[in-house]
Amino acid sequence: MDPAARLEELRRIIRHHERQYFVLATPEISDRQFDELMAELQSIEKQHPELVTPDSPTQRVGEAVTSFNTVKHRVPMMSIENSYSTGDIVDWLNRLEKAAGTSVFPVVAELKIDGVSGSFTYRDGMLHSGTTRGNGIEGDVITENVRTIRSLPLSIASNLDIDVRGEIYTPRSMLETLNQQRVANGEEPFKNCRNLTAGTIKSLDPAVAAQRGLQVMVYGIAQAAELGFKMHSEVLAFLAKQGFKLNQAWQSCSSCEEISGFIEQIANSRGKFDFDIDGIVIKVDNLSLQAELGSTNKAPRWAIAYKYPQERATARLLRVEWQTGRSQLTPVAHIEPVELGGTTVARASLHNIDQITEKDIRLGDLVIVEKAGYIIPYIVAPVKEKRDGSEQTIAAPHVCPVCQQPVKIDKDENAATQIRCDNPACQGVLARRIIHFITQLEIENFGPQLVDQLIDKEQVQNVEDILKLGRLQLSALERMGEKSAEKIVSGISAAAQQPLAKLISALGINNVGVVVSEKIAAWYKQSFAAFLEAKDEELVKIDGIKDKVAGSITEFLRNPDNGQLIESLRGWWQGPGSAQLALMNAGSQLAGKTFVVTGEATLPRRQIEEQIKMHGGNVKSSVSPKTDFLLIGSLENDSFVSNKKSRAIELKIPIIDEFELARTLEKKIENGKFSN
Ligand SMILES: [Zn+2]
Repeated sequence: MDPAARLEELRRIIRHHERQYFVLATPEISDRQFDELMAELQSIEKQHPELVTPDSPTQRVGEAVTSFNTVKHRVPMMSIENSYSTGDIVDWLNRLEKAAGTSVFPVVAELKIDGVSGSFTYRDGMLHSGTTRGNGIEGDVITENVRTIRSLPLSIASNLDIDVRGEIYTPRSMLETLNQQRVANGEEPFKNCRNLTAGTIKSLDPAVAAQRGLQVMVYGIAQAAELGFKMHSEVLAFLAKQGFKLNQAWQSCSSCEEISGFIEQIANSRGKFDFDIDGIVIKVDNLSLQAELGSTNKAPRWAIAYKYPQERATARLLRVEWQTGRSQLTPVAHIEPVELGGTTVARASLHNIDQITEKDIRLGDLVIVEKAGYIIPYIVAPVKEKRDGSEQTIAAPHVCPVCQQPVKIDKDENAATQIRCDNPACQGVLARRIIHFITQLEIENFGPQLVDQLIDKEQVQNVEDILKLGRLQLSALERMGEKSAEKIVSGISAAAQQPLAKLISALGINNVGVVVSEKIAAWYKQSFAAFLEAKDEELVKIDGIKDKVAGSITEFLRNPDNGQLIESLRGWWQGPGSAQLALMNAGSQLAGKTFVVTGEATLPRRQIEEQIKMHGGNVKSSVSPKTDFLLIGSLENDSFVSNKKSRAIELKIPIIDEFELARTLEKKIENGKFSN
């Protein structure tokens, strides 16, 4: 295929899948398949730089900037008046009706996402710029960071010159992932989604924003009325059609009862959203009525926000559990179950021993638990007036809860108390290190339970043992089928081709997370060998790496305890080179091969067929002497009976499944056979 045509096709396919994943949350292909499409696009664009366009999916992450320019909004971004009860809303509606001399229904009720407001300008169908709300009159130009937001289209079908308004936010699941990493690295976790979003959006390096997975939900167009839209709901429908992500829960209401019904319904389900909301916004739907009602100095009269009460509750503190982490022991409070923000909470964070001491939290205390915007609810303070004298102070543990060996307690350079298990043989520490390793290298189908099982059965005594796990060893474990064992083994070997940055962050060096690892990998030109020779004086030259980080890296690399791990990784890791090479040849990899697909697989059949065709193969519906392979979905076992199967056996046609297909797409077909 002509590269320009393939490029267009790839961009179309990638945009489709980006939208499925980031806007509609209904992915059709695996992350891995998506990455492969991106890699192919990148390699074609590399060979044909003249074909790169600014709206190509590869162009989301640009160069770092040195500062942000300020710009005046074409239409000011006003704030919205707050209310705290449905009574306030009734008053507001009465006020409006009096001013307008007519009913203001229908109104639109939308979720108020707790993020950072932004304005996104589109011109000639292209994303032109992104701006923060700032003071409402002028904001910072953050186009580079906004471009990394994959739920925001870089181009749209409409040619209108518009400022799309929306809320930039961080998904809760992303905050959770980032915080797990930070805690494991001994870094302070981000406080909540909002703070994280505000910090990320002002980062000068768009690579940071890209890694933190920002999202946008849009809620309007600044110039809607001038452009001839009649209703706000019409604007929402238009935005959805242009491929923007909207909060799907919005509702048109024709009475106060419907509004309070919506408020209540969202209050009950908000705990399940992957984003924080702090209320509901209610807007008059009719745009000419909006214009008639106008605005005060600060806020439009035609909209009001209903704010949910703080997510706080009191509960009895029953016990404190110390959890052994990769670098520290952390306290978790077990409390009497209590309803909070639509979920039942029985565990809450106590942060660390210093906070427990400072706040004077005691066992048996009635404590205030807060969830507002926090993934893990945490203990705010004890209710001291309710004490009866039976409460007991909470002391730091003397022994590690996993290995029962004495813990080490000392102060770090910020005078914060550190409680560590330094026992190199501790299974708790080992489990955390292995889980970190697996997560960073994105080894699939390998969960914490399997890690515990392997450690219990002494199949794994250190991190590097993971690399040597074999199929037989795994399938000997309880509840482990041969197919699953095979998937895990192929997941481990596939991880050997992850980029160097992921390998570095998988090492679990203190203070070295994803962002720092990326910088180091780039500095050492993706060479693991060069990284292993790293010196402090080199490391501190890397932007953003301070003495402390450099010190923990060189200390880790020179520590004889890590020698074996490093040696094993040196032999195991291959880097992405070979996979990318395979992708470049992928166009013709299955060329001329004919496949028949049958049986139930882990992917929809249509997708498997698409994959085959994308790599140059043909798909036929019946088995004939011209068939090269019969693919039977992996969910079928050996007793699967079908005409296609018996015919294939008769004709001695090789039978494969979707995993073998996927593996082969990374390698070459040799002599018409699938190599393993
Ligand atoms: Zn221990």
